[in-house]
Amino acid sequence: MKYVSTRGGVAPIPFKEAVMMGLARDGGLLLPESFPDVRDRLADWAKLSYESLAFEVVRLFADDIPADDLRAIVRKSYATFSPVPPAPDQAWTGPEVAPVRPVGPVHVLELFHGPTLAFKDFALQFLGNLFEYVLGEGGRELNVVVATSGDTGSAAIHGLRGRKGVRVFVLHPAGRVSPVQELQMTSVLDDNVFNIALAGTFDDAQRIVKGLFSDLPFKDEHRLGAVNSINWARVLAQVVYYFYGAFRTMERTGAKEVSFVVPTGNFGDVFAGYVAARMGLPVRRLRLATNENDILSRFFASGVYSLGRVVPTLSPSMDIQIASNFERWLFLHAGRDAAQVRAWMDAFAKNGSLEVPRAADGSLDATLCAGRADTAATLETIRRFHADFGYLMDPHTAVGVSVALASGDAAGGAPVVCLSTAHPAKFPDAIGRATGDASLATEPRVEALKGAPTRKFPLPNDLRAVADFVAART
Ligand SMILES: *Cc1c(COP(=O)(O)O)cnc(C)c1O
Repeated sequence: MKYVSTRGGVAPIPFKEAVMMGLARDGGLLLPESFPDVRDRLADWAKLSYESLAFEVVRLFADDIPADDLRAIVRKSYATFSPVPPAPDQAWTGPEVAPVRPVGPVHVLELFHGPTLAFKDFALQFLGNLFEYVLGEGGRELNVVVATSGDTGSAAIHGLRGRKGVRVFVLHPAGRVSPVQELQMTSVLDDNVFNIALAGTFDDAQRIVKGLFSDLPFKDEHRLGAVNSINWARVLAQVVYYFYGAFRTMERTGAKEVSFVVPTGNFGDVFAGYVAARMGLPVRRLRLATNENDILSRFFASGVYSLGRVVPTLSPSMDIQIASNFERWLFLHAGRDAAQVRAWMDAFAKNGSLEVPRAADGSLDATLCAGRADTAATLETIRRFHADFGYLMDPHTAVGVSVALASGDAAGGAPVVCLSTAHPAKFPDAIGRATGDASLATEPRVEALKGAPTRKFPLPNDLRAVADFVAART
């Protein structure tokens, strides 16, 4: 499998090179040249454990890594999770890293049983092992620079801490991540971990990281690597749980297809679902859900992708107005026409807005659609699911569940799988506001962080300052 750029300026490259490149050298994003059709394997895949399924999916895209090595990488990546015993009404009998729970009208795919209690562990544990493997082959060194709205940073730090040949620089918007998220990052004191508290928003941090990567001499001299969801390996690791979640839900309900609702910020997670559908997973509807930072839900309603102002919400990992993976969808939507993508992205850079023509029936995509839930709806969903079903969910998950209920998808026949992207104990303030009791949300790994020694480096919202900080330490 070879990889190409959405901007058309990278000759086809193999998987390992695509992983190490991160952002494509022409400023675009890397994508496989084609998506394998797996429809004739679904029945066999439905019988596999998470780990075995992950190996089968990933090997189709990572064919330049020998099978035994890849199997070991995948095994190590999910061994750090806390597997959950299977539910009694379930056909699958093994312990689960991604359990599906029927809760009221929806099925909740719990993706928060990894070391930092958010779905990003699925991708970043894998990426950490992948980096170590590839770097070990060449005796090379890599300096990961990443912007985070909260969860990417902690997942990246826990995926990369202590690894040979890797340093990790994490930029978080100072004061705009939850206290638990901040502690999960700054309490890691390994020598190869640098937490930068940036005086700005997440989008500012993202812009600075993109600025460092587009300065090619700097990128080469300091061997920069990316772990943002722009890195293809992250999307790839996330494709797996769409298959897994669909299989568990179909076997429980007898349905032949499912719909997904995905709380969305950078469009990485939902794009992984889009890839699964393109490979032949029977997905009726793939609905992204945003909070008040709704550039994507406005786009799927209007065809116009236009920049808004970032407002802080209860779901900070979705407080994003520039969805860095959206370009991948644009490229596929344009029939892989890189010139068209360049024209759209130029328009967006110039005017803060781009417009995509609709199909004859008025839609933008046969599978993908969107919805939005505001703070009041999010809080009410947390409150009601706790009161009615005894199920506590985090505010990101609640945005998705709220959108799922409002959309009427659940009435449409196919069961609705809502991705639960974080453990509620990461967001006790929101739980307290919704239910009146912040202490409902507890988790031993969160309790253990309290009072731990921390380290962080405050920096101004300035590309030069960050570049100098990185240069001085590499
Ligand atoms: C990162 C994150 C999201 C958004 O995922 P994207 O891939 O950026 O769309 C949603 N919920 C939580 C808890 C997250 O950490």
